[in-house]
Amino acid sequence: MPQTILSVRAVTKSFGNLLALDAISIDVEERKVSILVGPNGSGKTTLINVISGLYEPDTGKVIYQGKDVSGLPPYKLYSMGVARTFQIPALFWRLTVLENLLVAEKGNPGESFLKAFDIVGLKSWQNFFRPWRDTSSGWMLIRGLKSVKAKFRVKKPAKMLDPRRIASFAIYFLGASMKPWIDFFTPAWEDREKHATRKAARILRLLGLSRVWNQPAYSLSGGQMKLVEIGRALMTDAKLLLLDEPVSGVNPTLAHEIFARILRLRDELGLTFFIVEHRLDIALKYVDHMFAMSLGRVIASGSPDVVLNDQRVIESYLGG
Ligand code: ADP
Ligand code: MG
Repeated sequence: MPQTILSVRAVTKSFGNLLALDAISIDVEERKVSILVGPNGSGKTTLINVISGLYEPDTGKVIYQGKDVSGLPPYKLYSMGVARTFQIPALFWRLTVLENLLVAEKGNPGESFLKAFDIVGLKSWQNFFRPWRDTSSGWMLIRGLKSVKAKFRVKKPAKMLDPRRIASFAIYFLGASMKPWIDFFTPAWEDREKHATRKAARILRLLGLSRVWNQPAYSLSGGQMKLVEIGRALMTDAKLLLLDEPVSGVNPTLAHEIFARILRLRDELGLTFFIVEHRLDIALKYVDHMFAMSLGRVIASGSPDVVLNDQRVIESYLGG
C-alpha cells in the first residue's frame, strides 16, 4: 500500500493580479519519482517554492508526513527532511565538491546534528574521568589539592595567603581543569567532522562524483553541478527531494545518467522525488507518476502514458 508523503490541498498563490497557483491539489507517494510538467509560466517553480517554504500559500495547506507545514520557513522544512534544488545551481563556486557537501551538512540544525552530538557525548562521558586519573594534569590537580590541605595544616594563618602559594595552586588547578574539558569537547567536533566526511564520501560515490571530490565547483560540467546540488540536498538527510529542472542544459548522456542515479537513490535510500522537468524525451522512462499543469492548475495526473494522451494536456502544449 503506497503511502502519501506530501499532500498539497487547494493551494493558491498570486503575485499581484496574477494567479500563479489556482487551487492546486496533489498527492505525492513515498519512494516514488513523480514528475511535474507544463508549459513555461504555468506555475511549476512557484509550486516548488510553496512546498519548500520559500513562499507562503495565500490559502490552502501543505501536508508533509501527516503534519501541516504550510508557511513553515525553508530551514524548518530542511530539518524535517524536505530539500530542494534550484533551476540554476546555487553552489559555492570556489569551494571543492566535498566542501560544498560539508557546508550543507553544517548548516543543518536538524536531526543529524543532534545524532552526531549524542553518539560523541556518550563516548566522552566514558572518557571523562580518565585524564584526571592518568595524565600529568590529573596529578597536577592532586598536587594542587595537597597544597590546599597543607595550607590548612599550617599553624600560622598569615602564611596561608602567601601569594606564591596561591599562584602555584591556581596554575595547578587551571592546568588540571582544562585538560578534561578540552578532551570532553574536542572529540565531539572531531567525530562530527569524521561522520560528515564519511557521509559526504558515500553520497559522492552514489552520485558518481568521487573522482572530482577535490575540484572547485566552478570547474565542473553543468550536469556535475546539478549532481552536486542533489548531493547537498542529501547531506541534510532529506527524505523528499524537490528538484527544479535537474537536467536542463545538460547533455543527453549525462541527463540519462542523472535520472539513473535518481532511481538508485530512490531504491537504495528510499527517497521520494518530486521533479519539475520539461525534457520529457529524457525523463519519461524514469518516472512513476506524472502531473501536468497549465495556467496555475493541475490538468492531469496519473501514469505518464495516461497523462500524455490526455486531451487537455495535448491542447495546452500545442496552444502554449
Ligand atoms: P514555471 O516554473 O512553470 O515556468 P513559474 O512558477 O516560474 O512558472 O511562474 C508562474 C507565473 O508566476 C509566471 O507568470 C511568472 O511570471 C509568475 N511569477 C513567478 N514568480 C513570481 C514572483 N516572485 N513575482 C511575480 N511573478 C512571479
Ligand atoms: Mg520554472
